[in-house]
Amino acid sequence: MLGIDWSHIKGLAIASDEGVIVIKTAKSIPQDGRVAIEASAPLPLLFELLRQGREVILIDEKAVKARREELSIEKSDETDATLIRTLAEEGLGSLLSKDAKAVKLVHTYARYLKNQKARIALSNIWEGHKRYFGDWISGADKFAYEYSLEQIEAAEHSCLDELERLSPNPPPTLRKLKGLGARLWGGIVATADPRLFQHQHQYLAYCGLTAGSRNSNKFSRKARVVYFLLSEQMLKQKNEEFRKIYDEAKQESVEKHERGECNCKYPKSHNHKVGLNRVSTALAKIIFATKEEWSEQLGLFG
Ligand SMILES: [Zn+2]
Repeated sequence: MLGIDWSHIKGLAIASDEGVIVIKTAKSIPQDGRVAIEASAPLPLLFELLRQGREVILIDEKAVKARREELSIEKSDETDATLIRTLAEEGLGSLLSKDAKAVKLVHTYARYLKNQKARIALSNIWEGHKRYFGDWISGADKFAYEYSLEQIEAAEHSCLDELERLSPNPPPTLRKLKGLGARLWGGIVATADPRLFQHQHQYLAYCGLTAGSRNSNKFSRKARVVYFLLSEQMLKQKNEEFRKIYDEAKQESVEKHERGECNCKYPKSHNHKVGLNRVSTALAKIIFATKEEWSEQLGLFG
C-alpha cells in the first residue's frame, strides 16, 4: 500500500514501507496495486491512478487532519502521505469506484476531445479531397466519408449530453458567470483543476496562459482548449466586460502587426488568438480565486 499526498507543489509525496519519496508526476508512482489518497484530490490524478489499474482508497481529509492533531505532528506533505497510508491500512478509507460520477466525467471529457479531434481531421481530409479530386469522387467515397462523419458527430453529441448530466454545480461565486454552462464547467473540472496549484502564476502556466509556458511548450493543451472554448462562449453571450478585454488585446495586436513587429502568415487569426488569450487569462484568474470553494462543493460528487 502506498500513501499519496498530492498537495506537494513540485510533485507527489509517496509513503511506502521504505519511507517517503517525492516524485514529479503520477506516471512515475512506484508499482503497487493499492494506493491511498485524500478524497479531495484532483480528478485527473484519481483518474490516472485508476487508469493505471490500481485500487484507489480514498481517505477523508478531515480524518487526516484529526490524526495529525491527535499525534501533534507538524503538517508537511511527507507526514501527510504517511498518515494517509496509516489510515488506509486501518481500514478507514473507501474504495474509489469506476462508476463514481467524477471518474465518469473525466473519462467522458477525454472521449469528447478525441471525437472532436477525429471529426475535425476527417472533415479536413474530406474537404481537401473534394478540392483536388472533385470530379473523380465516387458515390461510394462520398457515402463512406459522410457516413463516418455522421457517426463521429453522433458520438460527440452523446459525450456532450453525458457531460451535461455528469457535471457538478459550479461553486457559488462562479454561478453568476453567464456562459459557464455544464459542459464547459465539466471540462474545467476534468482538465484544469486549480486545486493542484498553490500560486496563480503556476495555474496560468499550466493552462498555457503565460508567455513562458508557451515558449517552453510546457502546458496542458486540454486546459488551454477548455479556456479558449469558455472565452468564445463569453464573447457569444455578449458579456461586455470580457468583450472589452478581447477588443483591447486584439487592437494591441493589430497595431503590432501594422508596425511590422510580427511577420506571421495569418495576422487575422493571430489577433483573434491574442484576444482569446487575454480573455482566457482573466477567466482563469477568476476561477483560480474560487479554488477554496471547490473542495466542499465537489468532493467526488456522489
Ligand atoms: Zn502575427
